[in-house]
Amino acid sequence: MQTHETQLRHWICEIGRRLHARGFVAAADGNISVRLDASRFLCTPSGMSKGHMRPVDIVVADSKGNRLAGERRVTSEFFTHLAAYEERPEMQAVIHAHPTYATTLTLMDIDTTPPVLPELIMSLVALPRAPYATPGSAEGADAIRALIKRFDALLLDRHGAIVVGADLQDAYMKMERLESAAQTLYLAHLLGRPAALSPDKIAKLMAATVPPDAPVPPYPF
Ligand SMILES: [Zn+2]
Repeated sequence: MQTHETQLRHWICEIGRRLHARGFVAAADGNISVRLDASRFLCTPSGMSKGHMRPVDIVVADSKGNRLAGERRVTSEFFTHLAAYEERPEMQAVIHAHPTYATTLTLMDIDTTPPVLPELIMSLVALPRAPYATPGSAEGADAIRALIKRFDALLLDRHGAIVVGADLQDAYMKMERLESAAQTLYLAHLLGRPAALSPDKIAKLMAATVPPDAPVPPYPF
């Protein structure tokens, strides 16, 4: 019988393999974390390929970023994860990766918030971009706070993307959705400028983002 922690360690390694296999992380890029209990987190170690981690490589950290258990160092970007957990206490997992199309759109200053992709609106609502911060620094935490409070998936200026999820699998799916949308938007912008959906179509899509009897929020951009 596997313990809860053992299962989570396994899933972090599995999702690391998927991120690596999809080309969302190169070399030692990216990081993955999950809540272990009220005050502890499991997170990926710094300086290690996310495609080749073993459960024993995963580190236990507290809510200040201190290592509580494990041989390796806590990822330098864990402070950004902590900011996401602080702003979204209902979320259980955070993934940061460097998917190519998402990063490319930020390099070219392409606005990814116009409502053009129905599946994106129904799942993530929109892809806003957090301002630039030095990777691995405390600035990264402050850079995401305002937007991660309102959105599950963000592009990070010149530095990939970050997502929050109800569990590790949910967070991974959001990262795939984000990069798929980024790839489509990249191709569309090569050919021209994609037209926005009409207000009535947007309202129907936004209705899918809330429970059946809840008021439908406006599209936020
Ligand atoms: Zn990074």
